[in-house]
Amino acid sequence: MRILISADMEGATGVTCTADVVPQTEQWQRFRRMLTADVNACVAGLFDGGATDVLVNEAHSAQRNALLEDLDPRARMLTGRHKPLSMMQGVDSGVDGVVFLGYHTGAGAEGVLAHTYLENSITEVRLDGVAASEGRLNAALAAEHGVPVLLVTGDDLTCADAGGYAPRAGRVAVKECVSRYAAVCKPPAVTGPEIAAAARAAMTHAGRGHGDAAAHTVEVDFDATHLAAAAALVPTVELAAPRTVRYTAESMTAAMAAFKVVTAIAAGAIDGIYG
Ligand SMILES: [Zn+2]
Repeated sequence: MRILISADMEGATGVTCTADVVPQTEQWQRFRRMLTADVNACVAGLFDGGATDVLVNEAHSAQRNALLEDLDPRARMLTGRHKPLSMMQGVDSGVDGVVFLGYHTGAGAEGVLAHTYLENSITEVRLDGVAASEGRLNAALAAEHGVPVLLVTGDDLTCADAGGYAPRAGRVAVKECVSRYAAVCKPPAVTGPEIAAAARAAMTHAGRGHGDAAAHTVEVDFDATHLAAAAALVPTVELAAPRTVRYTAESMTAAMAAFKVVTAIAAGAIDGIYG
C-alpha cells in the first residue's frame, strides 16, 4: 500500500497569518517544525494502518518547507518546485491513496488564509460550475487516476469543504477559523495524536480503482480586469467576462496544467499595490 501525502502549509497546526507561511521569516522557521510534526503524525498513522510506502510531496509556496532531518525515517520527501503535477506530483505513480495535509479553503471563501494558488488576486475558481478549492481541484485529479482521498487536515471550514468533494475521507480540524487571520488552535500535542488516529483509520479506504479521464471546464474570477486579459492570452483560454476567464480541457490533468499557466501569467501581470 503506497500512499502520497500532499503537504500544504496554511492548514498546518497553529498557522494563522502571512508570516507563518512566507519563507525566510522567523515565524515560518517556527511553523516549519509544526508542519513537519503534522506530517510525521500522519506518516505514523498511515504505517500503523497498513501503508508500506509513504511519499510526502511538498505543496506550499516554493515547496521547501518541511524539515527532512526531522522526518519519520520510514517516509520519503519530494522537495522543491517545477513539478508537472505540482501539489499532486506522484499521484500518477500507482499510489493507493492520497492525504491532503495542511490544506485550506478556496479563494473568496471564509477560512484561515483562504486562497487558490495565488495568495490574493483570484476571487473564485469554479470547476464545472462549482466553486473549487485546491482540495476540490486536486481531488478531481486524484479521481482521474483512480486514487481515493483518504484524509484532509486543516481548519474546520477546510474540513467542511472536504465533505463536499471527498465525503468518505477522514477529516481533522486542527483549528477553528475565527477570521482569515485568526483561529482557535489546538496545540501539536493534541493535533498529532488526532491526525495519527485519523490516518490509521483512513487506511481502510486505501486502494486504487479505475481512473477515467473526462473533459472539465474551469473558470477563474480575478479582482482586476488586466489579470483576466493577461490570462486570456493563453491558448484555449477565453475571456468570459471582464474579470473572468474560462477554458475547457480534455482531462483534469490537462486542466491543472492549464491552471498552472493561467495563474503564472496572471501573477506576472500583478503590478504593485494596485494589484
Ligand atoms: Zn495551498
